[in-house]
Amino acid sequence: MVEKNQKDIRFKDKFQGVNPSISDSSTYAFATAQDMIDTFNGENDQFLYSRHSSPSNQQLADEMAKLERSEAAHVFASGMGAISATLMQLCQQGDHIISSRTIYGGSHALLKNVFPKWGIDTTFVDITDLSSIEKAINSNTKVIYCESLSNPLLEVADIKEISSLAKKYNLTFIVDNTFTPLIFQPIQLGADVVIHSLTKFINGTSDTVAGAVCGSADLINSMKDVSSGCAMLLGQTLDSLRAASIVKNRQTLELRMKKHSENAYYLAQEFDKYGITTIYPGLKSHKDHELFQSQKSKDFGFGGILGIDLKSEERAHLFMEKMQEAGLGYLAVSLGYFKTLFSASGSSTSSEISEEEQKEMGLTKGLVRISVGLDYHIESSLYQMIQIYQHVNQIYPINDKVVYN
Ligand code: PLP
Repeated sequence: MVEKNQKDIRFKDKFQGVNPSISDSSTYAFATAQDMIDTFNGENDQFLYSRHSSPSNQQLADEMAKLERSEAAHVFASGMGAISATLMQLCQQGDHIISSRTIYGGSHALLKNVFPKWGIDTTFVDITDLSSIEKAINSNTKVIYCESLSNPLLEVADIKEISSLAKKYNLTFIVDNTFTPLIFQPIQLGADVVIHSLTKFINGTSDTVAGAVCGSADLINSMKDVSSGCAMLLGQTLDSLRAASIVKNRQTLELRMKKHSENAYYLAQEFDKYGITTIYPGLKSHKDHELFQSQKSKDFGFGGILGIDLKSEERAHLFMEKMQEAGLGYLAVSLGYFKTLFSASGSSTSSEISEEEQKEMGLTKGLVRISVGLDYHIESSLYQMIQIYQHVNQIYPINDKVVYN
């Protein structure tokens, strides 16, 4: 049973290790048979079995609840595990979800191709258009779902306004905050539930797949219920060893987010100056710049992700291959790593979205999503990136004039 304002779990073992101890058990002994019965009935919070929770997983869950200022949280073996379990907990056959159309391709595919098999339909909307959200609401709508900063177009959700709408119609408003930990605190802005792929910034070392859901104690308890909880019964359990390693990496999140944002801001401004079409919410030219500014916390900037439009698929591919050859990062999906990662979203992380839909939402073949790393000498990285851009222009000329001095 998750208590409101749950106490921090600290493990003081006899060796006084400074790092979290790792719980190495799949099952836990009870002092009395009655204790076991009470735990099954959700009447105490003893550990029972590691698919339900473990001390290490609970420690990470408590960190997540603190980070997102929620009553409680639960961790999963992946971000998709957190998303699917949460939506399945909240919806049943015949229910309806309203989702932003610009979300991570896997989430989009889950809603579009998998949930209809169980009688749960989704209407995809332009999340920046409040009237289109309201128009899509019907009598069986249960959830509004979006990403704080959309993947890969970096559109900003107006969390306050959407949450007012959700409250008006008694809907649960879920925000995937994977791109903007610390920068946005969606629950403070009115969202009901926050989801994270911990695989990204929160872990930060691209060595683990994990996820989390943060919300009310009632929601989290219902998800852990032994007879009806989708966290307990679908089995997307995070391994305790991995949970302990994410707890360690979480301690540097503030410093990392600051540096990711500083580097991305610098690159975005410079790319823009050189005439490269750049999508970054820190730029005044970004259509949601003001909205981002009004929702963001003060210390962590505009985030570590930017997009540049190379104008064609072949130009994008050459740019990325040369970036990798130069050691500027990796041609790889995912984000939030200490090295720069880049991919052409249309043919990779958003390839689940049909070409027609991609066109409609403004996702071009030449768009390269860049998760900017923690480069100490970002000026020198920029210098090399611009040289590569000029090389691409020589091989595949376009009209953009790029002058580097
Ligand atoms: N949410 C967002 C915004 C993502 O970018 C991703 C993966 O890229 C996910 C969720 C899924 O997370 P995971 O890969 O940890 O399952």
